[in-house]
Amino acid sequence: MRMSTLQKLRTEILECLDQGQKPRLILDLDSTIFCVSPRTQFILRQFHSSQHAKPFLESHKQAIDILNAIETLPTDWGIRSSMIRHEVFARLDFFEAVRKHWVEGFFSNEMLIHDVPYKGAVEFVRECYTLGAHISYLTGRDVPRMGEGTREQLIRHGLPLDNDHDLQMKANSGLGDTNYKAEYFENLDGDLKHVWFVDNEPVLLHEIERRTPELNLIYTDTVHSGREEPSPKWPSIGMSWSL
Ligand SMILES: [Mg+2]
Repeated sequence: MRMSTLQKLRTEILECLDQGQKPRLILDLDSTIFCVSPRTQFILRQFHSSQHAKPFLESHKQAIDILNAIETLPTDWGIRSSMIRHEVFARLDFFEAVRKHWVEGFFSNEMLIHDVPYKGAVEFVRECYTLGAHISYLTGRDVPRMGEGTREQLIRHGLPLDNDHDLQMKANSGLGDTNYKAEYFENLDGDLKHVWFVDNEPVLLHEIERRTPELNLIYTDTVHSGREEPSPKWPSIGMSWSL
């Protein structure tokens, strides 16, 4: 029987330990461990109370009413698809205002409480930790806006975090995700053969593969930007982390 990606990963971690090596599992957070669609849903439903909504309260009452009850799906990336599905018709400046409100909320400590881990994700990471793998997180979230909330989120969900250094976040929001993560692996000490990196964004996985081909990549097939397709060579995990 063909082993699933998770079974294979667990086996490789055990083999690595048997050889006296310390396996390292490095995970992205958004759309890898956590489904962020409930975060987006909550933020969109709050639009009516935002300062950005003020110019539209009368002229776009119908569109705001739709947002008040909008339902996002785990397959939505960003805000566009849910608004199309709910047939939000409005002027362009209305959508710009909604986007501003969403950006402010989405990239903030306060809204992380709404994220939901994918089924089995926390349990699998904890199992790898118990087996003896070193667990760390590499996220495009930045410290000024989301540092505190991210740390609390990991602890709240029982994800292993042995020390501060095991949570890698951007120092500021100006850095691009792809270069930030690719550089991290270029500068990582130790043999990348014993490192596994899990992420949902094909654009950055392709770049990381190009720059550090010896690193083990695992693709989480959840949602992504759509700018590039995943490589069929990457082992993948779906929205449910089941063995
Ligand atoms: Mg991600």
